[in-house]
Amino acid sequence: MAGSIADAGGVDETLPDGVLAEWYPSISTYNWWMVLGGLLGGVGALGYLWVASGASMPAGISVSLVPAIALIGVLVAIHEGLHALAMLAFGARPQFGILRLRRAHLGFYTTAPGHRFSRRRYLVMCLAPLALIAPVGVFLCALPVGSVLWFPFGAHLGGCVGDLTLVRQALKMPGDAVFEDLRDGLRVWSGSAVR
Ligand SMILES: [Zn+2]
Repeated sequence: MAGSIADAGGVDETLPDGVLAEWYPSISTYNWWMVLGGLLGGVGALGYLWVASGASMPAGISVSLVPAIALIGVLVAIHEGLHALAMLAFGARPQFGILRLRRAHLGFYTTAPGHRFSRRRYLVMCLAPLALIAPVGVFLCALPVGSVLWFPFGAHLGGCVGDLTLVRQALKMPGDAVFEDLRDGLRVWSGSAVR
């Protein structure tokens, strides 16, 4: 049912033949991403800080802003690169860009318009950066450089909230559904219609 994924975004009522659903984040989706991303990033940052401080919580916290922002930029580039590598591995041609909504700059995206992924491949593609970067962060934060890495890795974790939303939408769809990543959303095809 197309309407079944309407709760977190907008659903186009006039869908082409064979399309089960389309999902685009709405303004309220972005607002929720700010709240949930902030919570996830905050909890993640405290977890990484705990690792960086030798399995204890320090009495005070300080973040050097310039290196933190530079490292977040590096992690974002690696994150998008991992999406792109997963797309390439599945035979798609990744494209990169900046996602904007009503003139607001919201983040970066990697997409492969026109390529259709099985649900399993779509889930791998969405989760690859989180599944690889988050545990590497635990390892790196345990090293002496952890004192400058805990905050960027926490921020990265918070930024994964958009990918997790797409995973949630994909899991609501039938197992044989076929997924097309759009620049600013998701199109889900009926498995029987495209085979
Ligand atoms: Zn992502």
